[in-house]
Amino acid sequence: MKVQNEMNISFESRSSNEGFARCAVSAFITQLDPTISELNDIKTAVSEAVTNCVVHAYRNTIGKIYINVRIKENSVAVIKVRDKGCGIEDIKQAMQPLFTTAPSEERAGLGFAVMQSFTDKVKVHSKVGKGTTVVFEKRLSCRVGNG
Ligand code: ATP
Ligand code: MG
Repeated sequence: MKVQNEMNISFESRSSNEGFARCAVSAFITQLDPTISELNDIKTAVSEAVTNCVVHAYRNTIGKIYINVRIKENSVAVIKVRDKGCGIEDIKQAMQPLFTTAPSEERAGLGFAVMQSFTDKVKVHSKVGKGTTVVFEKRLSCRVGNG
């Protein structure tokens, strides 16, 4: 699918940047004239992915979080959230609803489940010690042309 537009941002893994990440992605997506509900779905998924970088990938440290957003044909938005943190040993297990490695911090283990239910497709790539990339895709009910 041809890429029609693209943006990249990077920022430090501070929880104070979660709102920035959510709003930056939704501001970029706005050019597709999505519905409020579609925009909220994307914001929620971005929030979950960025929170995971802050609390899991760079636990007790500060590292960089990279977000790439691509707008493709047919108003498909592809969003990548990447970190260079600790990585995930067993991706399949990590994506199971209610699985968490931080139960004592009152984590529900529902972040990936939320990303899956609020977007059309979620893929996770990870290497222990190298980092994790979460890619999610959402088709928007575009109401205007996107030249
Ligand atoms: P919740 O999101 O409900 O607060 P959670 O973050 O534990 O809880 P998920 O977001 O579903 O739940 O993530 C499941 C598990 O996957 C985490 O507990 C963590 O072990 C691992 N994980 C997720 N994202 C990352 C990441 N970017 N780097 C390292 N580990 C991660
Ligand atoms: Mg989470």
